[in-house]
Amino acid sequence: MNRKQRRAQETLLRKDDNEELSAKVAMFGKLPEECTACETVYDKNDKEMATTWNVVVREEDKDNPVRLYCPSCWSTAQEVITNFLKTMEEEDGS
Ligand SMILES: [Zn+2]
Repeated sequence: MNRKQRRAQETLLRKDDNEELSAKVAMFGKLPEECTACETVYDKNDKEMATTWNVVVREEDKDNPVRLYCPSCWSTAQEVITNFLKTMEEEDGS
């Protein structure tokens, strides 16, 4: 594995780092033009959007590897995950 590939791999592992956004997009082609969940339009020239929106890359999905989430959909997704984990813990404890 050369240095460039290693950097690319590190980039993929740091999913919530927005500064790596452009690197990911460069690697996988295009960034969606809207939120993957609610279809709010993403303006890539908007600095606030660039720092608050989240990109998730799913390499296994060849057709649509790059997913983009607006802040509200992202927090909803985080809540779902948190609740899910909490439920798991509760079930585990009983
Ligand atoms: Zn959304």
